[in-house]
Amino acid sequence: MRQLINPKDFLILVVDDVPSNLKVLRGILEPIGYELTFATSGKQTLERVERVRPALILLDLMMPDMDGLQVCQALYSNPMYQDIPIIFLTASQEEEHLTYAFEQGAVDYINKPFNKAELLARIKTHLQLKHYSDCLNHQVQQEHLINDLTEKILSYSNLEQILNNAVSGIRDLLDADRVTICRFNAQKEGEIVAESLRGNWQPLLREKILDLFWIELDKSLDLSSQFQLIDNINEANLPSSQLKALAAWQVKAQIISPLIEQEKLWGVLIVHHCQSSHQWKEEETQFITQLSKQTAIAIQQSKLYQELKTANQELERIAYLDSLTQIPNRRQFDLTIKREWFRLRRQQLPLSLVLCDIDHFKQYNDFYGHPQGDLCLKQVAQGIASNLKRSADLVTRYGGEEFAVILPNTDLDGAIHVVKQIQQAIAQLKLPHQGLGLEKYVSLSMGIATMIPGPNLSYEELISLADKALYKAKANGRNRFFTN
Ligand code: GH3
Ligand code: MG
Ligand code: MG
Repeated sequence: MRQLINPKDFLILVVDDVPSNLKVLRGILEPIGYELTFATSGKQTLERVERVRPALILLDLMMPDMDGLQVCQALYSNPMYQDIPIIFLTASQEEEHLTYAFEQGAVDYINKPFNKAELLARIKTHLQLKHYSDCLNHQVQQEHLINDLTEKILSYSNLEQILNNAVSGIRDLLDADRVTICRFNAQKEGEIVAESLRGNWQPLLREKILDLFWIELDKSLDLSSQFQLIDNINEANLPSSQLKALAAWQVKAQIISPLIEQEKLWGVLIVHHCQSSHQWKEEETQFITQLSKQTAIAIQQSKLYQELKTANQELERIAYLDSLTQIPNRRQFDLTIKREWFRLRRQQLPLSLVLCDIDHFKQYNDFYGHPQGDLCLKQVAQGIASNLKRSADLVTRYGGEEFAVILPNTDLDGAIHVVKQIQQAIAQLKLPHQGLGLEKYVSLSMGIATMIPGPNLSYEELISLADKALYKAKANGRNRFFTN
């Protein structure tokens, strides 16, 4: 990275108590183009450094009052000034002081009387070194910021959080006025889905963008490294429609960088300067490209995460569902009866359980065949389910042709009411059961049990009571219910 330094960019502070020395140095340095400032004492030097922050100091070693070594010590005790290189100006008899000067942190020395070529060479070398180290420090700092931001963006699985963190982080780092993310749909229409805005500039969130920001991507090149850059919209020779939109949004300078997700243009990242035009630096474009790539990765991750989440939710749903009747299964029954039992025990409210069993179902299967039997089970399940009105009520497939209805916060009268409705509903289905003779229909026998859960009782007992009641219904002629 051999960049040549431009003398005009560097201010050199020249310190010597002898004005004629200053004059000589000025004669050598001024024609090169360096910016110069002078001091004739230690005290003056410290004051000057505070005000003008020189890039380099040429410091006379021997001065009355405060000598060069003391100045050096005072300056370098302040961390703010430790990176300013100091070159000592020494007369040869002062060489024994040099050891101490280097200990203080001085970078070099030059003997008086000055050799012009040597003086210029040493100054240039130290400025160059300083320049490199500044660049390097800056780069390291930038990389830290980018890494931190990347890490933050990638840490979210929620798309909205990813996008909002990306725009605000990027706006902060670039000190821009507006950073937005525009997302394209399948028709290639864009919408601004995230925005970070400074001050009172026009907000663009939810704004629709049709074809104004279409960036032409060269498919033969890496898509995510391409961008559209405008330093000054008035000099950019843009189509008038685009110019009009940019003016309405108070844009003076803009960068658009694509967000490529699975080789498709998911959207674009847009950075605006609104106060004035802005000459984009290479560092900034690299930064934007890099963060666009990371944001696109985060977008893809969030998509995968969502797919996984949906798949897991579906698996979970299936795990508690009876595949034939599509009502909750025995597993769900076990969970729910337990949960409701303990909930109602705390609240001291009644829990009712109804066990329903299809009458003579074996004969149904024998007469109509198993597939028709399955169909009948589905219809009965739906018939029961459609008569449950409260959200906490639950019908589950308890076993082969048995269903269990859990009725939380329902007393015996309430349970009887529900059971009668179920009985009526199944009768109304009029599912022929010719296995039992003509004019016969599918019916249910039901057993009801109700309890207010207490410490000396258990839900197993509730189930057992309902089962006994069901048995009574069977024993007493079927198509009826018994309570416990
Ligand atoms: P009861 O009136 O005493 O309840 O007589 P039942 O015939 O209904 O009772 P039983 O327990 O003897 O027979 C239950 C029948 O339910 C036997 C079995 O083939 C049938 N069954 C159980 N699960 C399924 C299923 O998933 N599909 C079909 N088609 N039939 C089933
Ligand atoms: Mg049975
Ligand atoms: Mg049966």
